[in-house]
Amino acid sequence: MEFRFCPVCSGALISLASGPDHGRMACRRGHFVHYANPAITAFAFVERDNRYLVLRRNQEPYRGRWELPGGFVEQGETPAQSVRREICEETGLRVVEASIMGAYASRYGDNGKWTVDVAFHCRASDDELTLSAESAEAAWVSIEHMPLLAFAGERSAFQDFRQKLAAP
Ligand SMILES: [Zn+2]
Repeated sequence: MEFRFCPVCSGALISLASGPDHGRMACRRGHFVHYANPAITAFAFVERDNRYLVLRRNQEPYRGRWELPGGFVEQGETPAQSVRREICEETGLRVVEASIMGAYASRYGDNGKWTVDVAFHCRASDDELTLSAESAEAAWVSIEHMPLLAFAGERSAFQDFRQKLAAP
C-alpha cells in the first residue's frame, strides 16, 4: 500500500532528504513516517500418515491455486499460535505438534504486499476436515504429489522440506 497523506493532519507526505529515515515518505510536520515493513504470515505442512494437507484457494489472490493452511499473524500472537488457529479455522483440525522449519520472504499476490512467512511442520491427530469458505477443496498428498503452491514462500519452504526429508 502507498501512503500519500498523513493519517493525523492529512498533509501530503514528502520524501525525507536526510536523517535515519532518509528516503522514506513522511509528514512534513513530523506526525508520521511510513515504514514499508512486511506483514507476518504462518503456514504449515500438516502431516497425517505420510500425506500432507493442501487447500485450493477460493479467493484472490491466486483463486483456484493450491496452498498450505495458514494465514496472517494477528497482533499479540506468536506464529505458532497463529498457525494452530488458522488450521483450526480453515479445516477444523487440531494439530498435536508443531515445529518451526524456517522463515521465507514472499508477496501476497503478484505485486502484493511483502510478507515474511514462518513455516511449520505439524501433525494432525485425525483427517476429518470441515472446510471454511476460504477453500474450494482439500487433498492429502504425498511429497511426490505436492502440487505447485501459490505463494513463493510456500514453494521455498517446500524445497527445504523435501531436502530435509531426503537427508539420511
Ligand atoms: Zn501530519
